[in-house]
Amino acid sequence: MNKPAVAIVGRPNVGKSTLFNRIIGRRTAIVQEDPGVTRDRKTLSADWSGREFLVVDTGGWIAPNAASGESRELVRQVTAQTERAITEADVLVCVVDVTVGVTDEDEAVARILRRSGKPVLLAANKVDGRNREIDAWGFVALGLGDPFPVSANHGRGTGELLDAVIAAMPVLVDVDESADDIFSVAIAGRPNVGKSTLFNRIIGDERAVVDDAPGTTRDSLDTIIATEDGPLKFIDTAGMRRQVRVEEPTEYYSTLRALEAVDKADAALLVIDASEGVTHQDQRLAERLDLSGTAVVVVLNKWDLVTDPEQRAQVLIDVADRLSFLGYAPVLKVSARTGKNFSSLLPALRDAKDAYHRRIPTAELNRLLQDAQAHHPPPAVRRHHPRILYATQGAIDPPTFTVFASHDLPDTYVRYLERRIREGFKLGPTPMKLRVRRRNS
Ligand code: GDP
Ligand code: GDP
Repeated sequence: MNKPAVAIVGRPNVGKSTLFNRIIGRRTAIVQEDPGVTRDRKTLSADWSGREFLVVDTGGWIAPNAASGESRELVRQVTAQTERAITEADVLVCVVDVTVGVTDEDEAVARILRRSGKPVLLAANKVDGRNREIDAWGFVALGLGDPFPVSANHGRGTGELLDAVIAAMPVLVDVDESADDIFSVAIAGRPNVGKSTLFNRIIGDERAVVDDAPGTTRDSLDTIIATEDGPLKFIDTAGMRRQVRVEEPTEYYSTLRALEAVDKADAALLVIDASEGVTHQDQRLAERLDLSGTAVVVVLNKWDLVTDPEQRAQVLIDVADRLSFLGYAPVLKVSARTGKNFSSLLPALRDAKDAYHRRIPTAELNRLLQDAQAHHPPPAVRRHHPRILYATQGAIDPPTFTVFASHDLPDTYVRYLERRIREGFKLGPTPMKLRVRRRNS
């Protein structure tokens, strides 16, 4: 089983190791008195309130000059370590020292944490007594929420901190459905558009991550989350989850991989970097998604970078222009970094899922088509006046219809019928298929 991981981060000497030892319950473990000493990174198992998790101590300083004021080098190292911790952990605990107050290094760490999209808890350490508690509030300035006043040495406040850590951890839940039946979503997009950031925020916000389904090894690449509307499976997210990136894949291979995921998916999030507009490659990817027959939700990410009203309008025009063939796909403007507008994402996927699985009662379908025909009868073709006789929905996933007509229908008319069906039954984001069969009556 995949235990959730908690990483303890912060500049040297704030008490990370002490807190680490406190959490794993080994009070006798060695604590480095000297902040400059190299030590190995440790990951150990711990539990609290019956939840098991891993604790990662990011230790390992190689900063012999740290004490002698090489502040820039220290900031660089702290930054690198924090980034590494972010990629490995589900929850981060940022430790600061109330006896010192806010330092440049604390601010550097906080900056990276704030945009990680992962839950972060701020531990204001060395609050050995009540009189120190007031000092903890100065750290609100780091923008990481309210600090938890703790004393790693004495154990003061660490229970409250751990309660909060547990609450922020992804919850593993069982699902009844076999993994194959779960509505599946692929996250597609060019490199660097923010797919990983987006994905981590989705699982960070949702908190309920379903354990990998048993007996399906390939599914370990997938991540299942429990949402209010049932489970959702994100396909081939191993490389995004905790960002275990081996190396930056070349554009070609990463795109190829994304396409494999798309072919297995019921829906795709097409992530576009809004600050760059819709590029030729976005367009090609969109065409490919359209062909694969999955439902599509267009995600204009990095909307926080598009501040100029004219540029905003231009991006939307671009989408309408260059992705016109996706026609009915919803377009969401979000920021994976700030979390802005994220609440629209799961509902959009839920609508996509509903539309994809929609089965329309035959009587309703026929009523709608007869109505459409009455408003706008098919044009004559070679002096024949075609009539729609009857229609059925032959399949779902995506909805597939067969219309029986007395004669061939012109393409424009078929598109009219498609539009009426789509609007009438709110098939929004899903592709649909409509075939016309001739039946002489
Ligand atoms: P790290 O470099 O962040 O891992 O910090 P350490 O855990 O090695 O602790 C640095 C120093 O702070 C050590 O001398 C600890 O004994 C001390 N320290 C850690 N926690 C507390 C605490 O809660 N109160 C006080 N007064 N000192 C602490
Ligand atoms: P991926 O290659 O598509 O997985 O992209 P990443 O998730 O690794 O993101 C690439 C870069 O874009 C990183 O530096 C992110 O911090 C940044 N990024 C992602 N989402 C946003 C966003 O919404 N706004 C801004 N400003 N930057 C973002």
